[in-house]
Amino acid sequence: PLLINQIAAGEVIERPASVVKELLENSLDAGARVIQVELEQAGIKRIQVRDDGDGIGHEDLILAVSPHATSKISSLEDLEAVASLGFRGEALPSIASVARLELISRAQGAEHGWRLRTDGTDTLEAPEPAAHPVGTSVEVRDLFYRIPARRKFLRTERTELGHIEQLIRRMALARADVAFRVQHNGRELFDLRADAEASSLSVATAPSPATETSPLLAGACGERLETLLGAAFVQQALRIDEQAEGLRLSGWVARPAFSRSQADLQFFFVNGRMVRDKLVSHAVRQAFQDVLHHARHPAYVLDLRLDPRQVDVNVHPAKQEVRFREGRQVHDFLFRSLHRRLAEGATPSHEQ
Ligand code: ADP
Ligand code: MG
Repeated sequence: PLLINQIAAGEVIERPASVVKELLENSLDAGARVIQVELEQAGIKRIQVRDDGDGIGHEDLILAVSPHATSKISSLEDLEAVASLGFRGEALPSIASVARLELISRAQGAEHGWRLRTDGTDTLEAPEPAAHPVGTSVEVRDLFYRIPARRKFLRTERTELGHIEQLIRRMALARADVAFRVQHNGRELFDLRADAEASSLSVATAPSPATETSPLLAGACGERLETLLGAAFVQQALRIDEQAEGLRLSGWVARPAFSRSQADLQFFFVNGRMVRDKLVSHAVRQAFQDVLHHARHPAYVLDLRLDPRQVDVNVHPAKQEVRFREGRQVHDFLFRSLHRRLAEGATPSHEQ
């Protein structure tokens, strides 16, 4: 099983940022309102994620690190309509197979927490009692310590940290209702307060259906958007909120006119999940091309909401690819929405 887990891990855990991603997704799925991340050596030495979510009960702790055990779906039907960020039950066992993992968690209503340690070998020791508030702390140490070949593929600390920062930016953009605090080697990287307006939307753990407002749009031009993407983006960005046929597109799009490299200013979420998708980028590029006569570096933060049954997220273990049931319809909707907004043009969002 160790070898099998390591192979599975190869698809899910490429670098420290992939660990952070999986842990943050778990915290969000658990309904966390405050998430704290501590990193050492860009996460290679240590990653700790603490949340105030639902916690894991004693009886489920061992399951949590067992392959293919997920509490999030229980039938094939659920898989058709995945609403949580996780659903494959692969992340924790994969991480445990390539690093030292410690899980401390206390469930709602439990008198204290429980600690479980694994070093990826097949023997698991019984959980022991531990002091912990309701919620979960996961600590991952010495990533790839037993797989030198993988360790060699890691880039410099600076590059790995860059990946993590970009990841946090994405997750924090999608969830303005959650506070994120991130430290690296004891120094603060992010301290993002929860946006009161976004919180009041009471976004469920599960990404909401098309009728709900995306937390992206709460606290219009909010502090978080500015902190994460810069004042120039916020000043130029046009607010989008379009709805048609069970699809809703919300967010911000800007004409690319600032000097800063735009390569990292393209964020697209589907039901709150960051995706990279050819159909999406094609629709966006086409809209820019049509209106502005060029499609260099479009800058956008967009969240598409639709019925989870209309989109398959189980395409790749890293869950960054999606397949739309009605690809054509989605493409046309995106194109039309962006086209209209870009063409209306220059009412900067802060004047609305
Ligand atoms: P998945 O997220 O696909 O279900 P994971 O391997 O990421 O699989 O996690 C396994 C299980 O452990 C989850 O289904 C969940 O029940 C539990 N779990 C993991 N992290 C947390 C957390 N931070 N809070 C509460 N439960 C968690
Ligand atoms: Mg998960």
